[in-house]
Amino acid sequence: MHEFPTDHSAIMERLAAIEPVAYGKTRNYLSGAVTRLSPYLTHGAISTKDVGEVALQKVSVKEAEIVFRELAWRDFYQASWSSLGDEIFSDLRFPQPSVEGKLVPGAVVNASTGIQAIDNAINELYQTGYLHNHARMWVAMLCCSIARTAWREPSRWLYYHLLDGDIASNTLSWQWVAGSSRKEPYLANQETINMFSGSTQRNTYLDVPYEELCNEIPMELRERIAVMLTTDLPSTEIPKLSGEVLLYHAWSLNPRWHPESNLPRVLLLEPDHFARFPISKKRLSFIMDLAANIPGLVTVVATMSELTKVNPEAKFRFVAHPAVAHWSGLSEDREALFNTSKAVERSWSFSKFWSQARCSLTSQ
Ligand SMILES: Cc1cc2nc3c(=O)[nH]c(=O)nc-3n(C[C@H](O)[C@H](O)[C@H](O)COP(=O)(O)OP(=O)(O)OC[C@H]3O[C@@H](n4cnc5c(N)ncnc54)[C@H](O)[C@@H]3O)c2cc1C
Repeated sequence: MHEFPTDHSAIMERLAAIEPVAYGKTRNYLSGAVTRLSPYLTHGAISTKDVGEVALQKVSVKEAEIVFRELAWRDFYQASWSSLGDEIFSDLRFPQPSVEGKLVPGAVVNASTGIQAIDNAINELYQTGYLHNHARMWVAMLCCSIARTAWREPSRWLYYHLLDGDIASNTLSWQWVAGSSRKEPYLANQETINMFSGSTQRNTYLDVPYEELCNEIPMELRERIAVMLTTDLPSTEIPKLSGEVLLYHAWSLNPRWHPESNLPRVLLLEPDHFARFPISKKRLSFIMDLAANIPGLVTVVATMSELTKVNPEAKFRFVAHPAVAHWSGLSEDREALFNTSKAVERSWSFSKFWSQARCSLTSQ
């Protein structure tokens, strides 16, 4: 079982331990040398730039190319949310094919789909808050293409449980798998799942050639259930503040942000955001544990307008993020490996974004 320590030195050790060459060769296997850095990237404890720099201390740009490409997916999705806004929450380019229901298949929620590799992965998700990328793709394709469920509700369920739950990466990855952001949905049959998971299971409803995978919804996946997702935020007072304040959000928990400053530090958790995008108790404690790495950080549960109403004189400085696009004050750019948002604005295409990002690497 994989664990996610929260003290800053352990995070830095995990960052230093990445293996770019082994990653490139094995990342598709559940047992592969993946980094497990995403919970720290999502919450801003480290940046994609940090990961890129460590990779280049170890190997050449060419040898680390697959790591860079995957980091580029993350930066691409963040830039997409910044430039497309709420458009990412509807089918982006094509209507999702063959939708018959909205609620999540009960067998996915109960880890009883009958596909052992997928059920094991869902149980691991509940225990650790982590799922390997390939397992996420299998869970999503099971919901979207095999059980013919619209991607929105299952994506909310997965986001709720992930320690790395990232609104842009999660929403847009579900759309990629469902076939609403590109022409074809992603599919995997039992043979593929066995190859990458080490499972040897046969004779399942997925143990058929690709062209027969979506013939009919298997019995196991027919029941759909409503899942109740709520965020258990603590109650806090709004402190009196004046002058400049370093304002953190759940995606900017970086202890290296203005480390020498004596300015007050506030972590603002907005209830309306967490009502719209609920997170599990495990995820909330993970956030609070990461926040504990920042000396003097005071948590406030309130909206930005409530905070500014109580503190009209305060000047808030924060790191830009699409989830806080409504904040006012002094916003600083978020650190990223590839800041090519203009490429996203011109045309929404990862291959174009990546070819520009790749040029910026080779020209270094
Ligand atoms: C259905 C689905 C839902 C997803 N939801 C999320 C999510 O909520 N939060 C999230 O951070 N990622 C999400 N991803 C992307 C990816 O699965 C995770 O980033 C990755 O598995 C995290 O594990 P890792 O850090 O060990 O990744 P590694 O394989 O070690 O990759 C290193 C880093 O590259 C980035 N990366 C790798 N693969 C992808 C990818 N396919 N898309 C975007 N970035 C990538 C991540 O920042 C990751 O931490 C989702 C993918 C799918 C298919």
